[in-house]
Amino acid sequence: MISWERSINIKSRQELEVMREAGRINAEALAAAVALVAPGVTTAEMNEAFEAVQRKYGVTSPFKNYPGPYPYPASICTSVNDELVHGIPNKHKLAEGDIVSIDCGTTYEGFVGDMAVTVPVGQIEPETQRLLDVTRKALEIAISKTVPGNTVGDVGYAVQTYVEEQGFYITRTYTGHGVGRKMHEGPQVPNYGKPGRGMRLREGMTIALEPMVLVGTGETIVKPDEWTVASADGSLTAHFENTVAVTADGPVILTAL
Ligand code: MG
Ligand code: MG
Repeated sequence: MISWERSINIKSRQELEVMREAGRINAEALAAAVALVAPGVTTAEMNEAFEAVQRKYGVTSPFKNYPGPYPYPASICTSVNDELVHGIPNKHKLAEGDIVSIDCGTTYEGFVGDMAVTVPVGQIEPETQRLLDVTRKALEIAISKTVPGNTVGDVGYAVQTYVEEQGFYITRTYTGHGVGRKMHEGPQVPNYGKPGRGMRLREGMTIALEPMVLVGTGETIVKPDEWTVASADGSLTAHFENTVAVTADGPVILTAL
């Protein structure tokens, strides 16, 4: 059996149109969850808001029952403050000054859109806002490098260089990935790398680019729930993600409203 990192699937123009709709619905459902974010709201309520939009379209989340230490129990991941990715929605109330990342997916007509944003809860510290700004900019940089002929090393190098210049850290343990009929396909797209190294990007590849940025160190731990990944030192983290198509006309964001 080959691992997902090696299973590259080139999409036709028609398949890209289906993926664009999967991504659009996903972005709409994500917006409903983000609209709730405020002090006193729970991440379980955000998950419900996301699922309500998915029900309206008759679509589902590839996150639900995703294989792991036990089947993933929700349709989105909600990761608060030091939590980087894979946080499970729960009844804990968000507080003023928190940041919460929402990572989510939608399967529509057999294709997946995968996207994440990190948003402030009420007023946040200026340095926390800078973390969000740097991570969002890192995603924009990654997207700009996602063109035919570049390698995954070119993408990772650009992200790593920018994030480290800003005084923050990237994780080496979790990466971006190809996405299509499955949420995780090849190639693996790390947020670090060397120019010219790794697999070459080709027209029709669809990639989930997802810079994951940490304030204190690049080290992560997994919390006792066996899903939630957090910074090892308890420092803040942020995560932004879009699904992007590699095309002759340049990168096309498939997870746009
Ligand atoms: Mg994701
Ligand atoms: Mg992803």
